[in-house]
Amino acid sequence: MMNNTLPNEQGFFGEYGGSFIPPQLQEIINDITASYLKLKDDPEFKAELADLYKHYVGRPSPIFYAKNLSKKLGGAQIYLKREDLNHTGAHKINHCLGEALLAKKMGKKKLIAETGAGQHGVALATAAALVGLECDIYMGEVDIVKEHPNVVRMKILGARVIPATHGRKTLKEAVDAAFEAYVKDPITQLYAIGSVVGPHPFPMMVRDFQQVVGREAKEQFLDMTGRQPNNLVACVGGGSNAIGLFTAFLDDENVNIYGVEPSGLSFKDGEHAATLTKGTPGIIHGFKCYLLQDENNEPAPVYSIASGLDYPGVGPQHSYLKDIGRVQYECINDKEAVEAFFEISRVEGIIPALESAHAIAYAMKLAPTLPQDETILVNLSGRGDKDIDYIAENYGQEYNV
Ligand SMILES: *Cc1c(COP(=O)(O)O)cnc(C)c1O
Repeated sequence: MMNNTLPNEQGFFGEYGGSFIPPQLQEIINDITASYLKLKDDPEFKAELADLYKHYVGRPSPIFYAKNLSKKLGGAQIYLKREDLNHTGAHKINHCLGEALLAKKMGKKKLIAETGAGQHGVALATAAALVGLECDIYMGEVDIVKEHPNVVRMKILGARVIPATHGRKTLKEAVDAAFEAYVKDPITQLYAIGSVVGPHPFPMMVRDFQQVVGREAKEQFLDMTGRQPNNLVACVGGGSNAIGLFTAFLDDENVNIYGVEPSGLSFKDGEHAATLTKGTPGIIHGFKCYLLQDENNEPAPVYSIASGLDYPGVGPQHSYLKDIGRVQYECINDKEAVEAFFEISRVEGIIPALESAHAIAYAMKLAPTLPQDETILVNLSGRGDKDIDYIAENYGQEYNV
């Protein structure tokens, strides 16, 4: 199938992706594409990134056989790729380091980005500090109050946190504000996108930086079990942790692949973020993808208990993989995610991010339907420290916290 050669030169995965941005910005973006394509095969750049993955991030992240959970469920055996053990606690550091190194090599002075819950902001501020770049993070005023610990982290790391004060004052407004600041000075700044979204080359570039996850997993899993996993499961917000795990296996037709979207409170408008399940093709933030949109083709309000999954669009490659049927996209709601959050905490001693809990919840549904000699490899994209106060406040009584 040769999925690894995607996208085409214009950045299209089938009909999805591309670059729908103002012409003056397109020139700058073309420059980023050219620099990236040159650097990505440069032995020095590759060695530098590999060294940081090993000695700074702590890669390879281990695979853990969740024996207790598997036994309790009584079906397929569940394994976890432990991206939660990375420095900063999630997979996002993988692409932030790549983007920071690229910016440095291109002679940029500053990284800018938006952040919702602050996870991308913290990972990027970390990479900026390490590589020696300034960092401006745009964040909705509402999120700044809600996600106080991450705001403090970014500031400790030396980043400026700039409030977006218009509209609903959350993620979408933060994107608007960051984009506006970027357009004002695209020469000395690089906009470091936080997932496999945005105009070409970002979906390709972020995927390339994340595919270390699947490459490691393939080798580790073979070492541990003598074969390939039968099934892969990962949660999908923009889709970076999922495509990071999937890429190495896309051409292995015997491996079933599942992406998990949040169905939130219900499938009513505004109560979920199940983009691939309920969306239709449209354009958001400079690229084409499945999109939850209103009657004016504007991105619709979305919701999930996991703020990292709360995006009305999705990566163009996932949109394509859905259409060709290579990946099956399923839904998990808030309640199921919280159940899985507590189950894996109490049975395996691992507190997952609420995003990752969606993947675990789907694996918990899938396992009992499969024979015991089958395996499921779940991408545990991040740790749950950031979620414990919210959980205690909202589910404390029910779960004895
Ligand atoms: C941001 C985030 C996600 C969602 O982003 P993707 O690009 O879909 O991977 C998932 N898990 C964690 C822990 C995150 O921080």
